[in-house]
Amino acid sequence: MTFPVLDLNSVILSSIGLALTLVLVLLVFGAYQQKAPVMRWAGGLLTLGGGYSLYFISRVVDMDGVRPGYAALAMTLAALGISIYVNGIRMLRGYRVYRYRSLLVMTILLSCNTVMLNLHAPVRWLILGNLFILVWVFVYGCRSLAGYGTDFVAQVFWLCCSLFASLSLWLVFLMLEVVLADEADLASFLAWPVHAYMAAATVLVLMAVTSLLLLVMNIRTQAGLQAMATMDSLTGTLNRRGLQDSANRMQAVSQRMALPMGMLIVDLDYFKKVNDVYGHLVGDVVLTSCAATIRSALRGGDVIGRYGGEEFCILLPNTGEQEAMVLAERIRRTIEKTPVSIAGVESMHDDTRAIKCTVSVGAVSSETVGYALDGMFAAADQNLYKAKQHGRNRVASNMELLMTQLPREISRPAKRHARVIA
Ligand code: GH3
Ligand code: MG
Ligand code: MG
Repeated sequence: MTFPVLDLNSVILSSIGLALTLVLVLLVFGAYQQKAPVMRWAGGLLTLGGGYSLYFISRVVDMDGVRPGYAALAMTLAALGISIYVNGIRMLRGYRVYRYRSLLVMTILLSCNTVMLNLHAPVRWLILGNLFILVWVFVYGCRSLAGYGTDFVAQVFWLCCSLFASLSLWLVFLMLEVVLADEADLASFLAWPVHAYMAAATVLVLMAVTSLLLLVMNIRTQAGLQAMATMDSLTGTLNRRGLQDSANRMQAVSQRMALPMGMLIVDLDYFKKVNDVYGHLVGDVVLTSCAATIRSALRGGDVIGRYGGEEFCILLPNTGEQEAMVLAERIRRTIEKTPVSIAGVESMHDDTRAIKCTVSVGAVSSETVGYALDGMFAAADQNLYKAKQHGRNRVASNMELLMTQLPREISRPAKRHARVIA
């Protein structure tokens, strides 16, 4: 099958138009978002467009066909442009950016082409050398685009990677064709119909990859905003909204699977005093540190969020009343045993070594109050109040209620904990 011969001038002119349009879009996007990778892509595409323009001008000026010198220079600009573009991709992915590689590509191509043209080296070597560098640049792009993971963004990266890989493969086939071609065919290499297809495909692939990568940037920005909307910036736990979302999801799954769901509300004892004695900065450090300590006592799948000022709510999937109480007690003891170091924090008090904290915990589970979230929050709050009433630094739950329902099964472990109010 032979492909129709395209008019190279028209293809190159429209490719330049496409590249410049994309540069304009990227410049506007970059000015709005101030993203360094976007500016790299714009610079790379502009350089590539410069290479295409040089080729186009030399074809228009020299009616006999492009001189090899101009073609080599145009190829150098194109390869330089693509490697600058790839550096933008590396920046986006947080990889190390080898700035000198773009310059290396340019220097190698310029010096090799100059030497080979002046020494009248065989055309085959000249063409193969140029194509090899171009393949190297595309493979470098492929490697930089390889996706890791299975999420949507990783798949987008894989798609971009496969587009670059297709171009690299195509270039490798072209190199094979050059190796196998006879001298007479090679003399007219610059007039081979494949160049029009290759020029158009390169710009189209770069357009597709740029659009996909802008989509990735958008997805990341949205994910950041989503995280900001559901996270508490001080403690790094979920905020009230995130907590409610998680609670809704956990409740729906637990109810559907008929699994128990537990909930704890943990409140720092006499926290106002910490603020009053040491100042709010120390108070913040204590809050953050306690949140980290609580998190370290949780299991995978448990969810922690900031319920109020110095109150945390913990959602426990597949956890009954007794297990919730055991975990609550573990949290209480861990906090009690872990003084918060405030060394280096600006404090209103002379003693700036460590602050001993305690917490009171209200525990509850769907076993005693059902799955309705409002009911669970209210019951956990009530139990917290009970723990405070009994002198603080203790855990309160509905175990008593449960024990009247299932006396033998669960009475023993509850007695083990001196600071547990059933
Ligand atoms: P109790 O043992 O009864 O819980 O006493 P408490 O002092 O811990 O409780 P109270 O509700 O009287 O005071 C809570 C304090 O928590 C008041 C408020 O200044 C402080 N607080 C709330 N949010 C923050 C915060 O983000 N940073 C700091 N430093 N303090 C906070
Ligand atoms: Mg408190
Ligand atoms: Mg409180």
